Amino acid sequence: MSEPKKLFIKTYGCQMNVYDSERMAEALGGQGYTEVASPEEADMILLNTCHIREKAAEKVYSELGRLRHLKAAKPDLKFGVAGCVAQAEGREIMLRQPMVDLVVGPQSYHRLPEMEARVRSGERALDTEMPEEDKFEKLKHRPKAKRGPTAFLTVQEGCDKFCAFCVVPYTRGAEVSRPVDRVLREARDLVERGVREITLLGQNVNAYHSEGPDGRDWGLARLVRALAEIDDLKRIRFTTSHPNDMEDDLIAAHGDCEKLMPYLHLPVQSGSDRILKRMNRSHTRDSYMALIERIRAARPDIAISGDFIVGFPEETDADFRDTMALVEQVNYAACFSFKYSSRPGTPAADRGGQVPAEVASARLIELQALLGRQQQDFMRAMVGREVGVLFEKPGRHAGQMVGKSDHLHAVHVTSEGLQPGDLRRVRITEAGTNSLAGVLL
Ligand code: SAM
Ligand code: SF4
Repeated sequence: MSEPKKLFIKTYGCQMNVYDSERMAEALGGQGYTEVASPEEADMILLNTCHIREKAAEKVYSELGRLRHLKAAKPDLKFGVAGCVAQAEGREIMLRQPMVDLVVGPQSYHRLPEMEARVRSGERALDTEMPEEDKFEKLKHRPKAKRGPTAFLTVQEGCDKFCAFCVVPYTRGAEVSRPVDRVLREARDLVERGVREITLLGQNVNAYHSEGPDGRDWGLARLVRALAEIDDLKRIRFTTSHPNDMEDDLIAAHGDCEKLMPYLHLPVQSGSDRILKRMNRSHTRDSYMALIERIRAARPDIAISGDFIVGFPEETDADFRDTMALVEQVNYAACFSFKYSSRPGTPAADRGGQVPAEVASARLIELQALLGRQQQDFMRAMVGREVGVLFEKPGRHAGQMVGKSDHLHAVHVTSEGLQPGDLRRVRITEAGTNSLAGVLL
């Protein structure tokens, strides 16, 4: 038998890329590849890229530059670029970087095995088409090997919302939901392999709509409830949600579906109606606040997180004050915040009124200070409370295990005999900057 070939994947960007990387590794497993942890060992190096903010392509070129010497030592080494930069700039990459053998866009991963074979025979392969087939279904079925207690599962891809700043509708294509039966099958398979918590992924996961086994249209809430019936699946999460797709039944599920964790990532982007309109977000500050109230009425202890962009074209100080006021009003558990980054091809890129970089930086510092304080307050408020913790791996100290709380905080507990996959009640005793500590109940 021939030696297994070795694959190194470097993943940039969101959780959907993490999931895609796992699936690509599995697909190439069928071609005799096993995954390795360092590029030095590899026969093929894949960069799974992200295009959401500036300098994405430059990062890819400089990473390729750093890795170039490996090719001198191992002439058979193959390089591939996958993900959203591949989709947006595939041809350009092929032209500028002769060492790249393979470029594959996010909708074409199921063609990887065939592309790899071509590359092995000395060709260069490029595929950035957006075929309408379900790439995950076409990919090799996931192997039965045991795996850790948490997993991502992509249920929806692409986006039809066209926010004025965002490349996703162009790099990931139109919104598509995977069929219910395939999602349920993949979830059962993951649970058989030891998974106890599944995070459903989608660029707009709560826009999920697909035909259920009863022939009816199922939204995300129905899907969550069906997943909750899988006995050994203990926890369900989903991300990322758009405020406009937060339907009543999904809010209700947060109130009455025990396995659905009390955490919701619901990006608002700005607190100014003027800017939201220019962003083409199609929700207002008031509609967002009303939504938060309804969600909190259904699940009072829910942790709300979000995304913010500061320095969007024409954002004034008054607009930024509106954002700060909204943050005060919502009181977030955790957030991501970014400086606006002009993306070629998006509507906002060609607008006037670009905010000077130093103004945007100052706003970001101020916003992040407030969000950081809120995050700390939320964590400190956990001290003394009982939470569920799903343990994932040993901690740094002897006898210590780390897991995630219902609210997605990392929790450290020292206790002999705890195993990855154990779900236990824990009393929180301490709050650090990024994690909590507790004792088993
Ligand atoms: N679909 C999700 C939503 O609507 O909230 C977000 C998906 S996007 C991959 C993740 C986050 O990246 C966005 O919420 C936004 O805050 C940020 N983002 C997207 N485009 C950006 C840009 N051009 N500049 C800065 N941040 C950006
Ligand atoms: Fe991008 Fe807006 Fe779609 Fe989110 S909803 S992926 S921010 S276009």
